[in-house]
Amino acid sequence: MILHPLARCSRMGVLLRDRTSIGIGGTAERFYTPESVDEMRQVLKHLRAQGLEPFILGGGCNTLFPDRPFSRPILATEKLRGLSVREPRLYVEAGVRLDTLIRVAIESGLSGLEMFIGIPGTVGGAVTMNAGGGPGGGDEFGTLVRTLYCLHPETSELVSMPGSQIEWGYRSARLDGLVVAAAELELAPGDTPALRQLAREFMHRKAAVQPLTSSSAGCIFKNPPGFTAGKLIDEAGLKGERIGGAVVSTRHGNFIINEGGKASSGDILALIERIRDLVWSKFRVRLDLEIVVAEDRPAVSRGGREAAGAEWERRKDALTTHA
Ligand SMILES: Cc1cc2nc3c(=O)[nH]c(=O)nc-3n(C[C@H](O)[C@H](O)[C@H](O)COP(=O)(O)OP(=O)(O)OC[C@H]3O[C@@H](n4cnc5c(N)ncnc54)[C@H](O)[C@@H]3O)c2cc1C
Repeated sequence: MILHPLARCSRMGVLLRDRTSIGIGGTAERFYTPESVDEMRQVLKHLRAQGLEPFILGGGCNTLFPDRPFSRPILATEKLRGLSVREPRLYVEAGVRLDTLIRVAIESGLSGLEMFIGIPGTVGGAVTMNAGGGPGGGDEFGTLVRTLYCLHPETSELVSMPGSQIEWGYRSARLDGLVVAAAELELAPGDTPALRQLAREFMHRKAAVQPLTSSSAGCIFKNPPGFTAGKLIDEAGLKGERIGGAVVSTRHGNFIINEGGKASSGDILALIERIRDLVWSKFRVRLDLEIVVAEDRPAVSRGGREAAGAEWERRKDALTTHA
């Protein structure tokens, strides 16, 4: 029997705690795992026809879900794993894991990605979060994006735009509702053994300061201008602070650990508030979230969707539409 793509790639009752690095989240009522960009386009179109805007899930390494059932549909990119080397470029689909991408680049003698070693998650997440600031220093993923392939928020068409046309921010990219399908990355020729060595060194540096083997969502807060969030939290005496199963890492103050898998989403959010309050009262510095707290909203207002579409209508010169 041949199943319709929408039926083939949709499931009910998927446990979100199994899909996030922090190990928290209730059941997703509708969970879609398209196997190709075209299938993802069909899913988006189908949901948008019902006024629904799915939550897009990559590796779940920067995301906190609520513990209760999540009624907003989830579109997971985990099966979009296309990857091809077109020296000195790499074409990679949104669901490819960053560690896989880095390994392929290094083994293909392409440099530019090795400093992102140890950042978990997918290419779609790294683009959306403009990941970086890892052991290799200040480089951000957006600097490598030559072309971004996305699905349009209003029409669900596949569009592309040059990376240089995207407003990249600190741990953000202004995508106005575009869903990342794939990216073409611009890399430079490099020497594989030297790149392997660099990646090993970066990994050692990261593992020395971050709790990489514990369940977390990475850095909770962005670094405020002129400060380091982890240092402020440490100086506020908050390392080891706990609420329920949520504990501030003793290794790095900007990580909250789900100790023994016992923390609820509410424990994490309460600890976040306690940290914010204390850092504010001691240093008068406001901490903004880096992690994404997934909002459960079953239907998107037509106004909101149109606004995203209108923004891209205004910027249509930046987009190329693909059949
Ligand atoms: C131990 C640890 C260490 C970390 N170290 C670092 C670090 O050094 N530097 C750093 O920057 N981050 C770090 N992180 C955070 C995390 O790894 C990055 O933010 C990563 O890029 C998230 O990717 P993801 O696929 O898991 O995204 P997810 O958590 O799945 O999603 C994050 C956001 O991106 C959106 N999104 C995901 N895919 C798409 C898509 N295809 N299209 C549109 N939107 C999409 C989601 O809706 C969500 O809003 C760390 C995390 C952990 C757990």
